[in-house]
Amino acid sequence: MKIKSLIVKTIIFFIALAILPSVTLAHKKTIAITIDDLPFVGEYRNFHLNMMMNTMVQQQVPATGFIIAKEVRNDNWGMLHKFRNAGFGLGNHTFSHANLNRLTADEYIQEIKKADSLLSPVLTKPKYFRYPYLAMSTGSKRNAILCYLAKKKYKVAPITIDSKDFAFNQRLLSVPELKRRDYLNELKPFYLDFIWQQTAKAENQHHHNAEQSQILLIHANLLNAYVLPDIINLYKEQGYEFITLDDALMTYKHAMNCKKMKPEPKIKDPEPNIDSFIAWD
Ligand SMILES: [Zn+2]
Repeated sequence: MKIKSLIVKTIIFFIALAILPSVTLAHKKTIAITIDDLPFVGEYRNFHLNMMMNTMVQQQVPATGFIIAKEVRNDNWGMLHKFRNAGFGLGNHTFSHANLNRLTADEYIQEIKKADSLLSPVLTKPKYFRYPYLAMSTGSKRNAILCYLAKKKYKVAPITIDSKDFAFNQRLLSVPELKRRDYLNELKPFYLDFIWQQTAKAENQHHHNAEQSQILLIHANLLNAYVLPDIINLYKEQGYEFITLDDALMTYKHAMNCKKMKPEPKIKDPEPNIDSFIAWD
């Protein structure tokens, strides 16, 4: 009797020894999907955005899409409502996919404003903004936009993994339509491998904060309409859990915030000898 219980205890001890380290040491890897350039890159095909949406609904994967307001037409407005009603997030991606590096802060603010008013029936809360080309500019221009977004209660949606899917999508589109299905099967492993390399790069960059979620950038395009199920499987097989953008951002210690700039010092009574200096400054 005693020997039997000793054997049982020993077995339990070794099982515990084998399981415990993996339970305590493994951090849960999480990722949020973001989809830029809604309604769709290229032709206005609700069919393909619908395919992406159905994949995510079936796999129970949350996602947030970013809309180029200028691209919204009567015939795809309904699709955006459908996307929203299926529980996905929808954010602002400017009116005309504007590049902040090429516009003044005021021009860019008009782009955000115009998109905001056109898209208000479908934008979800909290409101998210994604910079086209990920161009955030620098210095006071960068800060002016961050402050404007903060004032309008927009949260900036960063990315950590860039799939560079537009390059793969362009290749796919360059092939005649009848040959695309075969070509897609050739292209798919290269695309998935590239996404995985980008993920590994992002994981290594964030090794100092292993708890931080990844945020994947893909686009609403033909390639992803067909490969999204494989992308989701890839991450699931690697132990990732898909979470919302809101939850992903909660793991970020440093948000991109607008900084309060020091007001310019006012010189009431400039001394005569620095007068000329001020004039030239
Ligand atoms: Zn974009």
